[in-house]
Amino acid sequence: MHISKHKVAAIHYTLTDNSGKVIDSSKGNEPLHYIHGTGNLIVGMEEGLEGKKAGDKFNLKVSPEKGYGTKDSKMIQRVPRSAFGKEEVKKGMQFHTNHGQVVTVTDVGLNEVTVDANHPLAGIDLNFEVEVINVREATAEELDHGHVHGPGGHHHHQ
Ligand code: ZN
Repeated sequence: MHISKHKVAAIHYTLTDNSGKVIDSSKGNEPLHYIHGTGNLIVGMEEGLEGKKAGDKFNLKVSPEKGYGTKDSKMIQRVPRSAFGKEEVKKGMQFHTNHGQVVTVTDVGLNEVTVDANHPLAGIDLNFEVEVINVREATAEELDHGHVHGPGGHHHHQ
């Protein structure tokens, strides 16, 4: 069975940046299960997986445009140090804003802190090493919920 719209695929992947540094990997965990063609994954990943079948291994390079977007300089802001109260603020820390956005501290000055609300993977090339483990039809219930059930997916409690 080949991956196409509304198939459930299980994949293992390792994501590296252009310097070869591993950013994320499913190795050692359950494979990632997702419903194809429903926006569960970034566009570049879905494009690369289209038509693949169980056992296929391939490398995929995804540009920021088809990944997590380009960096938007308007989303980088300087806020007064006092906005963080007594909390210790360090470069690399992440905070949730009132709008549910995740911001990363990119610089800490004496009076000001620079925060970046871009996705941490925005603006970088993504290099995926992918292995397709399994492909099956999605159930009507899975399509209704928009996520995978059972192994590697959601478990609903009565
Ligand atoms: Zn569900």
